[in-house]
Amino acid sequence: MINFSAGPARLPASVLAQAQAELTSYRGSGMSIMEVSHRGPLFQDVIDRAEASLRQLMGIPDTYAVLFIQGGATQQFSMVPLNLLRAGRRAAYLDTGVWSQKAIEEARRYGDVTVVASGKAADYTEIPDLTQVSWPQDAAYAHITTNNTIYGTRLTTLPAVGPVPLVADMSSNILDEPYEVSQFGLIYAGAQKNMGPSGVTVVIIRRDLIGHAQPGTPLVLDYQPYAAHGSMYNTPPTFAIYLAGLVFDWALALGGIPATHALNSQKATLLYDYLDRSSLFVPNIPAPHRSRMNVTFRLRRPELEATFVAASQAAGFEGLKGHRSAGGMRASLYNAVTLADVEALVGFMTEFEHRYTA
Ligand SMILES: *Cc1c(COP(=O)(O)O)cnc(C)c1O
Repeated sequence: MINFSAGPARLPASVLAQAQAELTSYRGSGMSIMEVSHRGPLFQDVIDRAEASLRQLMGIPDTYAVLFIQGGATQQFSMVPLNLLRAGRRAAYLDTGVWSQKAIEEARRYGDVTVVASGKAADYTEIPDLTQVSWPQDAAYAHITTNNTIYGTRLTTLPAVGPVPLVADMSSNILDEPYEVSQFGLIYAGAQKNMGPSGVTVVIIRRDLIGHAQPGTPLVLDYQPYAAHGSMYNTPPTFAIYLAGLVFDWALALGGIPATHALNSQKATLLYDYLDRSSLFVPNIPAPHRSRMNVTFRLRRPELEATFVAASQAAGFEGLKGHRSAGGMRASLYNAVTLADVEALVGFMTEFEHRYTA
């Protein structure tokens, strides 16, 4: 099967092969990396190298901590306000779909939230015009979702939030877009879309934002103990960190984010160009708002959608059915998906189109 799933998603074949080769005896130790103490030298080396590789990939300055945390991106919906939303302040959020809404809902449990703009009126098929959005300058932080996995939209520019720390959920486009980390106060991303398996979430946080959690914050939801103990205040998700580290090294070997970005541009262009000229398939999202990672589309003849999904499965394409809240189809083109995979998909769609429009 060629896997176009939205997450958990495709991992590079060479990463899986390496994990398989060293599964039962990591570096000649006679033990799996899953079985050894997180306090021992074997795992310490794994987590140190994973952090170093991610720092190199993203150009993360020393003034930022890199934390590996369990609980998914969803846990960050709570950790961000618990740590950053100080008493008497408010948080500003841009609403670009389900994931931002969930983040907003959660933040409201811990303090005042201002939603500066919403794409809801357009069913989240467009990003609100950021030049028209005013961000409250007294906010404790400003939150955005850089890529909207479900709808297939993305922010093509960062909002001008002034001195307010910008917080970004980058779960579905981290390691594609070449961001300048210093423009953010905090970046978080669940690994299972573009970086590794589920089970670990990467948090990149400016160090001065650590250590101010709201009173009563559970320790496992406070960034401080993670930062103070190298992400090992308690047992970290060791195997997920190991695999994410292999993915980071794979991306570095490709040429880093400039290389993944260039390859992803080719993949996205190939599929969108086909959708734009197809007489059967229609892209959901207008060109300026399109995601490079999650390509959503429909059929001009909706009665054929189930046929298309079944036929794509039978032809060896996995995960093309759209999210239940958006409908239609979605092909996720994360870093591990190859250009040849997308060529195969476009070939299949072209044949399907001929069959049903002849
Ligand atoms: C998948 C996703 C989430 C949720 O991630 P979990 O790890 O399941 O909590 C949050 N935000 C975005 C943008 C996502 O794509």
